[in-house]
Amino acid sequence: MVFSNLNDIGLEINIISYETGGRVEKNDVLMENISKTDLNIAILKKVTKGTALIKLGKRNPKLMITAGIHGNELPPQIASLNLINELINSKLRGTVYVVPFSIPHATMENSRRFNGIDMNRAASKLGCLSNNLLKIIKMLKIDAVSDFHSTKLKSNPGRQSVFCSKKPCIKSYEIARYISENTPSELIFYEKAGLYYKGAFEDECNLAGIPAVTCEVVSENGEVDPGSPEKSYNQMISFLNYFKMIK
Ligand SMILES: [Zn+2]
Repeated sequence: MVFSNLNDIGLEINIISYETGGRVEKNDVLMENISKTDLNIAILKKVTKGTALIKLGKRNPKLMITAGIHGNELPPQIASLNLINELINSKLRGTVYVVPFSIPHATMENSRRFNGIDMNRAASKLGCLSNNLLKIIKMLKIDAVSDFHSTKLKSNPGRQSVFCSKKPCIKSYEIARYISENTPSELIFYEKAGLYYKGAFEDECNLAGIPAVTCEVVSENGEVDPGSPEKSYNQMISFLNYFKMIK
């Protein structure tokens, strides 16, 4: 793991996987929708090397926000950059880790898959990015995870929603219900993690004893429906608000 400090803005960035790097600025649709702040430009440069984990704040609780496990789902990736730019100027009660581009290479190609693999079905497979993320979550003792996606109409789920499972981590359900009520997003829950989706990142976190939810907003794949980054952003803020993260 290579560590670098953006001291001037009090931000830490770690590269947590080197196989996944990509020039996301080649994704024209993405670029039309992100502001060209110095911070964003620094992040775009960093992710050419691999998956970047951005740390804001310190102490507990420790939360993680991930976007782009499906590279062609752009609204959450845009929203996570907006979130980082906002949080850098906020006082935090604990630590927020953000992965704005889980697989920069897939984002560059505007592709759902990476090396032919759907990473949201491969979190239990050693060597897969989603599995690496899970290891880091355990290592850092993250208290809760929220994974952000977008979904096109008439697909699964095809509506703004928040997914969770009640077992083994009932807190997943409590977080999801809070986000559902506050954004609003439809609450979709399962009794036990891992039964319906095999190898989904959120399920694997839950099975490892880490509360986790998946948030979805509606947008065409590879495109950005009007207002969808803002809706994803609101889901992220709601997740942080559950933990009263922003002072
Ligand atoms: Zn997705």
